[in-house]
Amino acid sequence: MKSVAHAEEAVASARAEREAIQLRLRESDRDREAHRTRLRSREKELMSGRIRSPSELIQMNEEVQHMRARFAEEEDAELRLMEEGELAEQAVVEAAERLEETRTRSASDEPVLRKDLESWQSELETVKADSAATWAQVPSAAQSAYLRVRVHPPVAEVDRNQCQACHVTVTSSGMQALRKGDQIVHCENCGRILVMS
Ligand SMILES: [Zn+2]
Repeated sequence: MKSVAHAEEAVASARAEREAIQLRLRESDRDREAHRTRLRSREKELMSGRIRSPSELIQMNEEVQHMRARFAEEEDAELRLMEEGELAEQAVVEAAERLEETRTRSASDEPVLRKDLESWQSELETVKADSAATWAQVPSAAQSAYLRVRVHPPVAEVDRNQCQACHVTVTSSGMQALRKGDQIVHCENCGRILVMS
């Protein structure tokens, strides 16, 4: 079923989206861990009392402030990413539910569709049998003339002396033969078997 395939694609794309976000989250975790370690070691150094020079202290203090601010920004970004991850998770759940519904619906439609198909198949058999019976009544000369015509449909009506398939005027001898009705007349332009309308 087309709608089932469509719902399956939606699930696959929701899962891919979720995986992409999970990957970004893992990367963000790793980066944040590295930044946290560096920040802690700088803070320790700052508090150790080993740095005596005031200008060096000021510089390092600024550096630590800067790292703290960046760390806070990264935390915010990670929170947003986690929210995105929750939405992506929700989208996967919803897509899976829709797929389930579509599958159930398509399964319940199946018996009806099968019945329809069976009835069309039996109708087709009837039409084929009728057509074969009609064909058997066609004189053999007309049968072979019909089978020789390479264009479709092989028969064209004539109206106001014109072949209704190609709109070319039928010759007067052709018209005479058609009116007499005792031989098969072809359109000289398109080759179709002509019949009076
Ligand atoms: Zn014609």
